[in-house]
Amino acid sequence: MIYLDHAATTPLPRPVADAMYQVLTEEFGNPSAQYALGQTMAERVAAWRKTVADALDCPPEALCFTSCGTEGDNWAIQAALWQNRRVGKHIVTTAVEHSAILQPCQWLTQQGYEVTYVVPDSKGNIPAERILAAVRPDTALVSVMLVNNELGTIYPIREIAQGLKAKNPQTLLHTDAVQGFLKVPFSARTLGADLISLSAHKIGGPKGIGALYLGPRMKNVKPLLPGGGQEHGLRSGTEATAQIAGFAKAVELRQANLTETLSHMAEIKAYAVEQLTAIPDLVLVGDGEAPHILAVSLVGWPSQNIVNDLSAQGICISAGSACHQGKPSQVVAALKLPKKVAGGVIRLSFGPETTRADIDACAAALRRHHDSRFPML
Ligand code: PLP
Repeated sequence: MIYLDHAATTPLPRPVADAMYQVLTEEFGNPSAQYALGQTMAERVAAWRKTVADALDCPPEALCFTSCGTEGDNWAIQAALWQNRRVGKHIVTTAVEHSAILQPCQWLTQQGYEVTYVVPDSKGNIPAERILAAVRPDTALVSVMLVNNELGTIYPIREIAQGLKAKNPQTLLHTDAVQGFLKVPFSARTLGADLISLSAHKIGGPKGIGALYLGPRMKNVKPLLPGGGQEHGLRSGTEATAQIAGFAKAVELRQANLTETLSHMAEIKAYAVEQLTAIPDLVLVGDGEAPHILAVSLVGWPSQNIVNDLSAQGICISAGSACHQGKPSQVVAALKLPKKVAGGVIRLSFGPETTRADIDACAAALRRHHDSRFPML
């Protein structure tokens, strides 16, 4: 199998699985229990939290584990709107966010909130000024992702944070960094976002665990899950210790070789651009700079057919975000591309294990697809 869909999820390296197995079978204590098995686990959870917090460059007290990136996104919105309930009921976001932001925003609209969706240009870019221009005195929250999951576009979070200080210092800023964490270097301390959501399964960690950073301005956070008081009293529920162990181990592994991994992925992406653009009717979509995501279109060839054809040959690529299969992607729609271009958009995404041979095989399969079928769009 050739796996070129690392933005959907990533394989779990053996040491991550081993760390989880150890916790599942031997170190299975409840961190709230008073005997040694439990207390040791409390200490280990604290150490694992510190590992993830160090990678984000924030104090461990600022980080709450969640069940996934989707939960972090939902919680961030909820936390910001609650804290800023007297500021107003206006939200600024973009038309290219993940469904984990767009769906809650849609629901909030039905509850009396007003949402401004800033649209990108045809390359996927949104300058900070466009976001800031949408901010009003009653804007409670700005939520803009750090890296777009379909295009690899990096959005200017620092500039937005700086601009917000002048335009409306009360407005809270959230960034969905699910595709940015350990892919695009940043520090929670200097980024300027009040809330940052992460997910482990995009960096070689297990599914079912993520984290939300709540910065120093988040002083009035209502518990997401009231109960036994875990996660600094904000998200109760017995800690998912094996998942947390896996998350921390994945962070540790990625961090150990971060510079090499990022330059390897950038090199693979450059090679993929070179090989794929030699295919007739294939064009680049967007100019996303994240090293692990490449969007292209085989103009005129329906993307779902391409994905199915490559899948039959053991090659995994995506026709857009794995989270809205079957439905047209809101990201591609927002680019307002000609129908034949939009209909042929596919995403390749890379990991530390991706090789040039993987790219060669994918390019050959795409060329065969082009040569053996008539365009249908
Ligand atoms: N945000 C972005 C940008 C994503 O790419 C994803 C997953 O694809 C998510 C949020 C959701 O993360 P999770 O699968 O952990 O819920």
